[in-house]
Amino acid sequence: MSEVYENLIGGRWIGPTGDRRFERKNPADVTETIGTFPALGSEDADDIVDAALGGLAEWRTMKVLDRGRVLLQTAALLRERLDEIARDLTREMGKTLAEATAETSAAAAFFEYNGGLARAPEGDVLPDRRDDALVWTRREPIGVVVLITPWNDPLATPARKLGPALICGNSVVLKPASYTALSALHLARALHDAGLPPGVVNTATGSGSTIGAALASARGVAGVSFTGSNEVGAQLQGRAAGSSLRLQTELGGKNAALVLRDADLDVAIDAITSAAWGQTGQRCTSTSRVIVEEPLMDEVVDRLVKRAESLRVGSGLDPRVEMGPLVSAEQLDQVLAAVAEGRAQGAEVLFGGERLVDEDHRDGHFMAPTIMSTADPQNVAWVEELFGPVLTVRSASTPEEGVEFVNQSRYGLSAAVFTTDLRRAFAFTRDIEAGQISINLPTAGWDVHVPFGGFKESGSAFREQGVEGLGFYSRTKSIAMYGG
Ligand code: NAD
Repeated sequence: MSEVYENLIGGRWIGPTGDRRFERKNPADVTETIGTFPALGSEDADDIVDAALGGLAEWRTMKVLDRGRVLLQTAALLRERLDEIARDLTREMGKTLAEATAETSAAAAFFEYNGGLARAPEGDVLPDRRDDALVWTRREPIGVVVLITPWNDPLATPARKLGPALICGNSVVLKPASYTALSALHLARALHDAGLPPGVVNTATGSGSTIGAALASARGVAGVSFTGSNEVGAQLQGRAAGSSLRLQTELGGKNAALVLRDADLDVAIDAITSAAWGQTGQRCTSTSRVIVEEPLMDEVVDRLVKRAESLRVGSGLDPRVEMGPLVSAEQLDQVLAAVAEGRAQGAEVLFGGERLVDEDHRDGHFMAPTIMSTADPQNVAWVEELFGPVLTVRSASTPEEGVEFVNQSRYGLSAAVFTTDLRRAFAFTRDIEAGQISINLPTAGWDVHVPFGGFKESGSAFREQGVEGLGFYSRTKSIAMYGG
C-alpha cells in the first residue's frame, strides 16, 4: 500500500474521501506508486477560501517580525529535512537528486530571504507642505491569495510565491500541479510545524480545471498568482478582466542563446548543455534555441552533438545520471509528436529525437537529448515551447541578424549571449526583449533575490522575487498626520 497524503486546511490535515482521490507514479519507474492524494472538486473551493479568510485576521495583524520568525523557522525545517524532501521530489517529478537537492535549498532560501525582509522598511516618510504635518506610506496585505503552480519546480515555484505572500501578511490557498502534490505538502508541513497559525496556508490538491478554476474565481479571493502554460494563463486573464481581482502570470518561454564568432566556446558549450538538458529541458528558462554566427556553426553543432551523446540518461536517484525522465507519458508523447511535426515541416534531427526503450529505460518516460536544425521561422521546433530536452539550432550571418532571430518569438523570458566583445554584450542587453539576460552564462538559474519575470507573452507586469516581488502581494496606503 502506498502512502495516503492529506491537505492542510484551516490548520487540520484532511485526507481523501470516498473515491475522490488520485495516484501518482514515479516517472522513472511507473511500477512504483508515490502516493494517493485528495482530488478536491469545485464544490470545495468556498470552504477552503473561508479557511483562508479565517487565518487572515490573526496573521495580518501579527507583528511583521513575528511573521518573519515563522518563515525563518520554516527554512530551518526544510534544511533539516532536505534529504527526505529532495528524494521525494526526484521520485515524484524525475529530476536528478542533485537538481532536487539544489531546489530544496532554493525553497529554503526563499523563506530565509523573505523572513529577513521583516526587518526592511515598510514604507517611506514624505515631505508635507503644511506645518507640523507628516506623511508616510505603509505596505498592507491584499487579503486571500490563490497560488497556482506547475510541476517542473514544485518546491521552488510555490516557495517563490509563499515567501512574499506571507511576509506581507496575506493568507494563502496553494493549488499545486497534480504530478507533484507531495512537494507542496512538504512545504505546507514545514510551515505548519514552524508555528504558522491555522488557516494562513491551505493546500488544495486536485485537477486544475475543477478546483483550480473554482479557486481562481471564488468570492473572497483578492489575488491569483499563476505560473504555468499560456493556455491556462489566458483563461485566467479572460475571467479576471473587468473584475478587481489582481492577477500575476508567469508563462512559457522559448529562450535563445546567441553564440558570436568571438565567443569562448568552452564557456558557451557548458552553459548551453546545462540549460538545454538540465532538468530534461523542463524549465521555463531552459535554452531551447541556439543561434550561431556563421563561421562557428559547424564547430558548435559538433560539440553539442558530442555532449548530447555523452549525457547519461536514467533514474534521477542514480548519482551518475545527468538527465532524468520527462514528468509523464503525456509530456513525453507531446514532445515526441512535436519533434515529428518539426521534421515533417523540414527540420533536420541532428541527434536523438526518440524515446529510450532499452531494458534500463522501458519503465520510465525517457527520451534522448535532442538537437534539431531549421532555418524556417515557422517551424514548430523554432516557434513552440516544447518543454522537453530539445534544442533547435540555426545560423546567423551577422550579430545584428542574431539579435533579430533571438527576438523572433512571442515569448520574452530569458536570453543569453556568448561573446568576448563588451560592445556586443552591451548592445544585446539593450536590444533583446526578455526579462532575464545572461552574458556568458546560462539562460536558467536566477537567485531568489533577483527580480524575475517575462516580457511579451511570457509574463505580466508584476515581477517575482527580490523586493519587487512584494508588489503583487501588497497595496500601499498613504497616511497624513497633523501633530501640532
Ligand atoms: P499548466 O498550465 O497545465 O498547469 C499549471 C497549474 O495550473 C497546475 O496546478 C494546474 O493544475 C493548474 N490548472 C490547469 N488548468 C487550470 C484552470 N483551468 N484553472 C486554474 N488552474 C488550472 O502548466 P504545467 O504543464 O503544469 O507547467 C508547464 C508550463 O509552465 C510551461 O508552459 C512552462 O513554461 C510554464 N512555467 C513558467 C514559469 C515562469 O516563471 N515563467 C516557470 C515554470 C513553468
